[in-house]
Amino acid sequence: MANPLAGDGYVGAIDLGGTKIAAAIVGPGGQIVARAKRSTGKDHRPEVVIDRMADVVRKAAQEAGVDPTTLRGVGIGAPGPIDAEHGAIRTAPNLKGWQDVPLRDELSRRLGVPVALDNDVRVAVIAEGAAGAGRGALSWIALWPGTGVGGGVVIDGKVVTGTTNSAGELGHITIKAGGPKCGCGGRGHLEALASRTAIVKWIAKRVEEGDKTVLTKKVGNVMEARSEDLREAFASGDKLVTRAVRRGARFLAIGAASIANAVNPELVVLGGGLVEALGEPFARLVEKEVRKLPLAAATGHLKVAISQLGDDAGITGAALIARRLG
Ligand SMILES: [Zn+2]
Repeated sequence: MANPLAGDGYVGAIDLGGTKIAAAIVGPGGQIVARAKRSTGKDHRPEVVIDRMADVVRKAAQEAGVDPTTLRGVGIGAPGPIDAEHGAIRTAPNLKGWQDVPLRDELSRRLGVPVALDNDVRVAVIAEGAAGAGRGALSWIALWPGTGVGGGVVIDGKVVTGTTNSAGELGHITIKAGGPKCGCGGRGHLEALASRTAIVKWIAKRVEEGDKTVLTKKVGNVMEARSEDLREAFASGDKLVTRAVRRGARFLAIGAASIANAVNPELVVLGGGLVEALGEPFARLVEKEVRKLPLAAATGHLKVAISQLGDDAGITGAALIARRLG
């Protein structure tokens, strides 16, 4: 199959985060030919961060031996809700003071090339669909538990954007009425039950109540456990971590089934650091939990897979939206 990143000339891609800015240059064959990154820095004033973004692209282009002004386009995956019409970031929780920042046009002015902007989760979903676990699937959903739960809904090969570009906020569907408080202020949302943060918090609470886990010996404060620590504890059969992982899988299954009843997808792609560390056994666990739910027509054949692009999903998706500019 042709490389979905292939196209005329070179394009740039940026993954903008609260702590780092990563950029890459993609060549005509669709290969990443150079990369560059730098810290986002402590000074989050938009003009400072956008200058830095332009610098990182120039650095990557230099690395690739490409004149940055000849790039066919640059794509950005950025945090927070996006105003697609104006190419602006409405707000970004991890970029202090960002409010209606016209990032698309500001970066385009600095680099002298066209720029495409979309939400970081959205571009990662686009990437998994074109070059990862969703490849070949027409209708599927993404659920990515991390600090929150990122998500996306793809129907007939198109990422659903919704009326105000806010579709796919699957972390905020209600799973347990009156359940634990969510970061958004609501209660019992998927994010408050199955995010990596929620899973770790649940373990920490049980430890406080006297339950034992190998994590306490390994990392001291359970809240500081990394995905790899959790994977090891799970693989070694640690009882508390196994309960926590099963519980997370169950809530993800309930969430997936609820969404499935609305859109009848063929596949759920799970991603994020913890899920990727746990790998296939976790996908099978979620699939098993889906099967345990009362069989509905929409969930009977629902498959569960793990995302394949990992940390590169953001850069790959940003390159894809840049390719669409041409
Ligand atoms: Zn919420």
